[in-house]
Amino acid sequence: MAVKKIILYPNPLLLKTSTKIDKFDENLVTLSKHLIDTMYDADGVGLAAPQIGINKRIFVMDCSREDEEKDLRIVINPEIVNESEELHLYKEGCLSIPGITEEISRPKVIEVMYQDINGVTQRKTYDNLWSTCFQHELDHLNGKLFIDHLRPMKKLLVKNKMNKSSKKDR
Ligand SMILES: [Zn+2]
Repeated sequence: MAVKKIILYPNPLLLKTSTKIDKFDENLVTLSKHLIDTMYDADGVGLAAPQIGINKRIFVMDCSREDEEKDLRIVINPEIVNESEELHLYKEGCLSIPGITEEISRPKVIEVMYQDINGVTQRKTYDNLWSTCFQHELDHLNGKLFIDHLRPMKKLLVKNKMNKSSKKDR
């Protein structure tokens, strides 16, 4: 097991745009293992590389329910090629913003392209929680957090709450 430290908002590494991956080598396999171990250890459904301080375009996700088999996806250089007009509302949280959950609406169905760990292009359709999770993780690769989807006033309230709790920790 290689559980890494998850970096927390407002660490500037979370706000950077991550770079495209072009080498599908052992280092990438190691990075993906770090992400997988760290995600499962934290009981998360998704984890993006910037959250362990690495600004590269890779994330892992597993939105299977507890009564289902594990269903892990390693997603590299993702793109959304199509999205539904219909939206899906979900109370999101983020391992990098502990203690905060907010309802966010995003396209319910998305068609995506990405590369797997071998560099093979995958084209898939995701819906509901899988769609929400994919979009949330893709946002991380673009330096965007789920609270950036909130209305300005709401976002301010959340930020104040965050600041208060991080001061308490010190
Ligand atoms: Zn997140």
